[in-house]
Amino acid sequence: MDSGRSELLTPPELLTPPELLTLPDPLALPILRVVDAVTTRTHCPYCALQCGMEVTTTSAVETMPAPRADIRPDPAFPVNRGQMCIKGFTSGDLLDHPGRLTAPLLRTRAGRLAPASWDAALDFVAERLVRLRDAYGPAALAAFGSGALTNEKAYLLGKFVRVALRSPHVDYNGRYCMSSAAAGQNKAFGVDRGLPFPVSDIARTKTLLLWGANSCDTMPPLMQWVHEQRAGGKLIVVDPRRTETARVADLHLALTPGSDLALANGLLHLAIEEKLVAADYVARRTEGFEAVRRAVLEVHPAHVERQTGISIEQQLRTVRWLAAESSMLLSGRGPEQQSKGVDTVLAFTNLMLALGKVGQPASGYGCITGQGNGQGGREMGQKADQLPGYRLIEDPEHREALARVWGIDAAQLPGKGKSAYELLDALGPEGGIRALLVFGSNVAVASPNARHIERRLASLELLVVCDAFENDTSATADVILPVAQWAEEEGTMTNLEGRVISRRQVHAAPRGVKTDVEIICALAERLGEGARFRYAGSEAIFDELRRATAGAKADYSGITYERIRREQGVFWPCPAEDHAGTPRMFLERFAHADGKARFVPVRHRPAAELPDAQYPYYFTTGRYKEHYNSGAQTRQVAALVDARPEPRVEVHPRLATRLGVVDGGALRVESRRGEVTFTVTVSANIRPDTLFAPFHWGGRVAANILTKPALDPTSRMPEFKVCAVRAQAVALAVVEDVP
Ligand code: SF4
Repeated sequence: MDSGRSELLTPPELLTPPELLTLPDPLALPILRVVDAVTTRTHCPYCALQCGMEVTTTSAVETMPAPRADIRPDPAFPVNRGQMCIKGFTSGDLLDHPGRLTAPLLRTRAGRLAPASWDAALDFVAERLVRLRDAYGPAALAAFGSGALTNEKAYLLGKFVRVALRSPHVDYNGRYCMSSAAAGQNKAFGVDRGLPFPVSDIARTKTLLLWGANSCDTMPPLMQWVHEQRAGGKLIVVDPRRTETARVADLHLALTPGSDLALANGLLHLAIEEKLVAADYVARRTEGFEAVRRAVLEVHPAHVERQTGISIEQQLRTVRWLAAESSMLLSGRGPEQQSKGVDTVLAFTNLMLALGKVGQPASGYGCITGQGNGQGGREMGQKADQLPGYRLIEDPEHREALARVWGIDAAQLPGKGKSAYELLDALGPEGGIRALLVFGSNVAVASPNARHIERRLASLELLVVCDAFENDTSATADVILPVAQWAEEEGTMTNLEGRVISRRQVHAAPRGVKTDVEIICALAERLGEGARFRYAGSEAIFDELRRATAGAKADYSGITYERIRREQGVFWPCPAEDHAGTPRMFLERFAHADGKARFVPVRHRPAAELPDAQYPYYFTTGRYKEHYNSGAQTRQVAALVDARPEPRVEVHPRLATRLGVVDGGALRVESRRGEVTFTVTVSANIRPDTLFAPFHWGGRVAANILTKPALDPTSRMPEFKVCAVRAQAVALAVVEDVP
């Protein structure tokens, strides 16, 4: 049966109840009672550093709206030690923002969005989900989660999709973020925790190599540890761009985009030739070195020099510094967001294992996780192949363990679903996914080949977007459900160190919104699974999550809300309430059954698309310090928009001359997938063969219109960091005419 989209449009009886159209303007409501100022310690809504902040409010719950929250960095939180970036300082602007959604919106037959009651909206969604499932089977339904969701929400979303929708298809935007590092660490160490040590260890390492991570812009407070480290050691930065971070380095390796794997293998080649391999460590703590040794020796350093643009002398200096008494290699999205991201991470772990650094004091390999709960999000079962605690959905024992906690038969659990990009690519009648629920993710901007994804979203028979603001993804939604934000609800997050922390409610949510948890549970109720989705609050969900992860790799069973608050967070694994937690991993053993780490031979291969005669330049994407991911939140904050109103393409002066553009001019950048006209910044910080643009904007200036969805074969990470483009100067008058 091919149920047409028109059949699924809102029936008239579900349209706007009159009372919702006449709700008074909340800004006009009087203050009923004012109580003394209250200061609460909580955490920033954005990145994985999860800076501690103190929020002072002078409101009472009866006050609507609450007076503006006063936000300061928490000097006592040991991760940011009293620092925050501009995004954290301005995050309070999101709370009483006039653009907040405060009533569910349903699309009418005329195609406009109209307010509806919660019961009408939830009934509509549930009815459509059931109808589509009856017609096409459970795999026609899917959900897309987020690294911004709390652990409780990520856990509940995974359970909801598998138990209430009975679909295999749940994945999240963390697939676009840390999945290559996660898969690489799993192979090498048997477990994936972004940093296997606290950030304070960074300050104590002799040599720090930041590979494809621009922490000055993405996580400014992290730099306090880097500056401390630099005072007594060496800092190396690998990045095609001379970023703010590269500028403070002792050595900057501006490699050719996409050549990271060749360079990492080349460094190990030189370490072997220079006799810097820690033979005793390799024999005691690892398996598989010989195959890796043979693989990296196949390629001569002079060839690596040609492939990467990094001289043998610079390679030698790097590897000698890394062989210091302590050293650390931390990677960011640069090398990971490639179609060979996992192999590149394995080249990093091979190098640091060979040097004998992993599990040693102030040493080892780590991934600087990006999203606020990118770490917890990937542990809690919202990934297509994973169940809570990093259990695997295709492992019979792991399925049994979860089925026991969820009170179902393991046979009822669906199998592995589609990864993030593949899931979005399968939307619509052709791909078979007819309904999508999106929680906290702006996939229309964040996905590669963005125009294609917009078309796929528009072909759905039911698109439900749960968010605090309308965004690019909700542009074609059938239903938008307004949700509470970070400071308006309780929950836990797991930061880039694996430290489980507590987000506190410090502010009343506007009338008319619900939490994601309330929405998931209300839908489960309507789908006949309510008995498995009734919780007294977020702590009750966390207690179930603790049971669900007991005995698993990411074991949270010994972590309680009370401990988190008392101990400034607790590091997993923590298998018992009297267990101290695990700030430092791999001190004695790795997580493979025999306790040893694995070397994995990996060979360089080119990016899926390289410059050629038609598209002669590299194009790469990244971030501004003022914006976060797809900009769905930060583009709502006036101070951030004033500071960075638009994306600009960075062009080297020589290339600018050749193209005939000047700073502030316009450049049409075109790939095989589409074109974008950007304003130009001429900068000597970029290679002459490469263009760079940030991906925080949607619409006509979405950088991801250009990027190629070539996926890593293991992690299914898209190749955001390398594609081929051509460019042409555009007269400004022509730009203004673009519709
Ligand atoms: S560094 Fe990250 S967590 Fe800290 S204030 Fe900035 S965005 Fe927030």
